[in-house]
Amino acid sequence: MARLLDGAAVARSIREELRADVAALAERGVRPGLGVVLVGDHPASASYVRSKTRACAELGLHSETLRLAATATTGEVAAAVESLNARKDIHGILVQLPLPPQVDGTRLLDLVDPAKDVDGLHPENVGRLVQKRPRFVPCTPAGIMELLERSGIGVASKRAVVLGRSEIVGKPMSLLLLHADATVTVCHSKTRDLAAVCREADILVAAIGRAGLVRAEHVKPGAVVIDVGMNRIEDPQAARELLDPTRLVDFEKKGYALVGDVHAPSVAPVASALTPVPGGVGPLTIALLLKNTIRSAAARV
Ligand code: NAP
Repeated sequence: MARLLDGAAVARSIREELRADVAALAERGVRPGLGVVLVGDHPASASYVRSKTRACAELGLHSETLRLAATATTGEVAAAVESLNARKDIHGILVQLPLPPQVDGTRLLDLVDPAKDVDGLHPENVGRLVQKRPRFVPCTPAGIMELLERSGIGVASKRAVVLGRSEIVGKPMSLLLLHADATVTVCHSKTRDLAAVCREADILVAAIGRAGLVRAEHVKPGAVVIDVGMNRIEDPQAARELLDPTRLVDFEKKGYALVGDVHAPSVAPVASALTPVPGGVGPLTIALLLKNTIRSAAARV
């Protein structure tokens, strides 16, 4: 059976290490600050923002959320971003995605001061990552690299397959693995014979947003499988198929469950290591957001 990679425990270690940096900044009169722009009332986004602000508070960071109505225009959201750009006490800016369809997300992400772009989505930071001289790297793939390293999983010379090519996970993940000397393949919805390509991977990262799509047939025996997916399921039949008996009891109480892109019951006996959902990649994303915000504050002292 695959070893479970405890992302939550690694995230706790990272947060503990960051305490010393926060204390050192406090001695110099600096309290790192994160500004979040949240547009609309998407329940998952609101819940992610709550987790991020709670994590900031636990570590002594300042955080604040600028909330805009779901009907906000690009200009209104842009004004919120500009106001955070101008603030000396805000060192990190995060525009929570997804944005409503009438809002031009590209324009907004371009507007974030690249020196405060803790999500690493500004073209300047993307370019720096491509050139292997990163400033801010998107938090989820950066967290996965920390998890691999701290779990003693070497990357150099391995075959890595990244499932998904989003700006926030798939693309930066593939670059980080490449820079760590893996041989990397990126798959997407037009990839032919997906299972065969995935089976070449020593390290398989699934970031597609499709509950339980990755099955045993996608996994080479002994592969390390990183499950980025965070999918809410409410359908009892899907729950029976995707959840183990303990989680099924919980599903029946709550009426929903969060599952990854990996079908854990069939993949666990094949893989050598696997991240759980929840408790795998999610907590790392938040820990790396804190780390980026603190680094941004330190760079300004
Ligand atoms: P996204 O922007 O929707 O991108 C999904 C990617 O998967 C696209 O590249 C798409 O291909 C590909 N894809 C979709 N269906 C596929 C299929 N059947 N076969 C092969 N490829 C397929 O998603 P994202 O923002 O990267 O997020 C992916 C998942 O990770 C979601 O569940 C999200 O909630 C989760 N997530 C979790 C965290 C965390 O902290 N745990 C952070 C970020 C995201 P095309 O490009 O061809 O459309």
